[in-house]
This record gives sequence, structure tokens and C-alpha cells, in this order.
Amino acid sequence: MTARIIDGKATAAAVLAEVKARADAFRAARGRPPGLAVVLVGEDPASQVYVRNKGREAEAAGFRSEQHTLPVTTSQADLLALVARLNADPGIDGILVQLPLPKGIDAETVLTAIDPAKDVDGFHPVNVGLLGSGATDRALVPCTPAGSMILLESVLGPSLAGKHAVVVGRSNIVGKPIAQLLLQRDATVTIAHSRTTDLAALCRQADVLVAAVGRPEMVRGDWVKPGAVVIDVGINRIPAPDKGEGKTRLVGDLAFAEAAEVASAITPVPGGVGPMTIALLMANTVTAAHLREGLARPRFGA
Ligand code: NAP
Repeated sequence: MTARIIDGKATAAAVLAEVKARADAFRAARGRPPGLAVVLVGEDPASQVYVRNKGREAEAAGFRSEQHTLPVTTSQADLLALVARLNADPGIDGILVQLPLPKGIDAETVLTAIDPAKDVDGFHPVNVGLLGSGATDRALVPCTPAGSMILLESVLGPSLAGKHAVVVGRSNIVGKPIAQLLLQRDATVTIAHSRTTDLAALCRQADVLVAAVGRPEMVRGDWVKPGAVVIDVGINRIPAPDKGEGKTRLVGDLAFAEAAEVASAITPVPGGVGPMTIALLMANTVTAAHLREGLARPRFGA
């Protein structure tokens, strides 16, 4: 079997087109665009790229887009003061504080200080609780899990009743929220992690296999049940001497070529879940704007 490749780039472009249309309609109805503020503390090169891309997409979507770049020496108190100002700004619907934060700043304290109604990353305990209790109409859901679900839905439709989903990874930002979303779609869900025994045999039982481990190509082709749908969340940069000295390439947590021989559908890396994450950040900003203004929650990627 040769798997269908799930095109995250095309799906993300479609979500961004919906975001733009919703943002335009919101501006027409409320007399202001949705607003997104992204906060970067320090000069981590990868974070700088992520923040720049987020700003670019926000502008393309017609948002009010703000970037706050603070020096690495910024105190936690100063960062909290900025978060408080953004919380109080009525034209800002989404606040994202780029992680990781420099030493000396406690990420949990900062993320918890963000108004949950503006928490477009979905990391605030209120949003975690709403998602866990199934109140998805009110929750802001983390972007990578929400994007992964849209890709899965593009293959299997909205209901996962009768399907066994195995999620490898239990982080708060990926593994656990994906497991919650799968459960809400009526899948039977197993969450695996570094202490799971006989992981390969467990994965072979999965109709839906999600790899969110952070270990390059750990999940092998013979871990995949024939016909399974496989979502690879991993993004790992590994040396690629075949491309030249010092060159690197991106790979997922899944051995793609092997798994594509067995699965019925599979996300590539790059071009799978990655592009969905930023698209869902924009979608979350439009959603936050609608909920804050008492408007009906828009749906994306349906
Ligand atoms: P993380 O916080 O490091 O969590 C990794 C999880 O994998 C942990 O639950 C860990 O188990 C588990 N794990 C590690 N080694 C394992 C092993 N040998 N066998 C089974 N489980 C193992 O990572 P994360 O933030 O969830 O990210 C996971 C991957 O997704 C990374 O590659 C990251 O780059 C990628 N990612 C991609 C996007 C995107 O936009 N596409 C966004 C976020 C993350 P324990 O809990 O037992 O330690």
C-alpha cells in the first residue's frame, strides 16, 4: 500500500483564506479588525523566525498586528506589566508570549497572567480545563493539536467512533490536548510515553497513530497497522551530509518512507502539521475576537 499524503500546506492555505474572510466580516460588523499581539523576550534565533512569520500572517489576514520585542534582561515584573496592558487593550483579542522564556522568568506565571479570553495559544489553565471538560464551544484550543485534528478530519471525517487512536507523547502542548480532542470525536484513546512498555506492539493496534515525541524517525514502518492514518507532529533537524558538509534536513518522529508503505494516509514533514499550527493561531485570534464580542463562534477547516 502507498499512503495518501495529507497536504498540510494546502489545508493551511484554505484555513487562512477562511480566516481572512471572517476577519473582513468581523471588521465590517464591529468597525475594527481582530488584534493579535506577539511578545518576544530575548534573541533566540528560532523564536525570532516564528514571531516574524506570525506577524506576517496576521497582517496578511487583515488583523491589527503588534510585535513587542523585549531584551533578554527584561524582568518578570516588566513582562507581567506588558501582559496586563495587553489584557486591558480592547483592540487586542489575542496575546501570544513566545516560548521559551529566558532564565529567571517563570513561564507558568506569565502564561497564567494572560486573560484566558485572549489566550490564543490555549495554554492557560482555564482553557486547559474547558478542553478537558469537553466545553470546546468556549475553549481556545492549542494550535498544533487543533491543526492536527483538521488534517485527520480531512481523511476520516468528523467521527472517530470505533477507532483506536494511539498518541505517542503526553506533553501539555501537544500529546494531552490531541488526546482530549480525539476522545471528543469518540475515538478510543491510548496515550503512550517514555515509560510505556512494548510501544511498537501498542502502535500496531492503532487505527489512528499520532507521533508527538521529539525523536527523529523513532516510529518505524513496522509499528504502523496496515491502513492506519498517521499524523506526524514531530519536527526534528538532523545532519544531512548527503546534501553537503554541515547541511541539515527536517524530519518527523516517524520513518516516513517506511510508514507510507503501510499507512492509508500520512502527513509529511515538512508540509504536514507544521503549516497548520500558524494557520490555527490566526483562526484562534478570529475566534477570540468573536467570543469577546459575544458573536457566534466561527468554525474553521470543517
Ligand atoms: P516534549 O514536551 O519533549 O514531549 C515529548 C513526549 O514524548 C513526552 O511525553 C515523552 O514522554 C515522550 N517520549 C520521549 N521519548 C520517548 C520514547 N522513547 N518513547 C515514547 N515516548 C517518548 O515534546 P512536545 O513539545 O510535545 O513536541 C513533540 C514533537 O512535536 C517535537 O518534535 C516538536 O518539535 C514537535 N512540535 C511540532 C509542532 C508543530 O508546529 N508541528 C508544535 C509543537 C511541537 P515522557 O512524558 O515520559 O517524558
